[in-house]
Amino acid sequence: MDSLDFIESSYNIPLNYEREYIYNTKSGSLLRLDSGETLAKLCEDEKTFDYLLDNGFVTNVDERAGLRFKHCTAQNDQTYLHFTIFITLDCNFNCYYCYEHKTQKTLSNSNIDKLLSYIEKEYGKGKIKRLHITWMGGEPLLEHKKIVSISSRIITLSKNYSVRYTASLVTNGFFLATCESNFISSTQINEIQLTFDGPENYHNIVKNTHNPNDPHFQEL
Ligand code: SF4
Repeated sequence: MDSLDFIESSYNIPLNYEREYIYNTKSGSLLRLDSGETLAKLCEDEKTFDYLLDNGFVTNVDERAGLRFKHCTAQNDQTYLHFTIFITLDCNFNCYYCYEHKTQKTLSNSNIDKLLSYIEKEYGKGKIKRLHITWMGGEPLLEHKKIVSISSRIITLSKNYSVRYTASLVTNGFFLATCESNFISSTQINEIQLTFDGPENYHNIVKNTHNPNDPHFQEL
């Protein structure tokens, strides 16, 4: 097929950090551009074009239609449950872009019980094959003990109903080292999203740690 049939991916983001890059948010690939280079120019070379295609920088599929299809499929999938749990809105950092209204309130025991009852009711209908929980905050690891305890209940429930359970965590990472040594395995978290706000000095400024030698970045 001719490379003219291909278009630039909508997932491409141009970056300028001392030099030009293109980051494809779908494949996670990063392309460094030499001075004067453009994606269109690179496509003229057959081998480079194959590389760009394999890494999603160019495509011949309708990416929006693909997204719409995935969205509809997910909406109508009665075998899969996904919850995002804001276990606390509190956080140990103060990023300038933070949109949370910080409060020391955490998910109450009665709401946790309601959530567990709802999950059990859904499991009882016999259609659910998979459950995924995303732990969010604020900084969710401020409540890591609660995450362990709720996970343990969900894991037991899921085993009883033969439902596959997985979880993910969105965290600034500060408390990861101080969590229980079996925190990841006991909560069945199989994906962690960590926030990096740039190089160390910039990261520390954004996180507003008030300490230029804060070890947090190095620990991450
Ligand atoms: S780490 Fe996240 S929750 Fe905490 S202040 Fe920054 S953006 Fe807000």
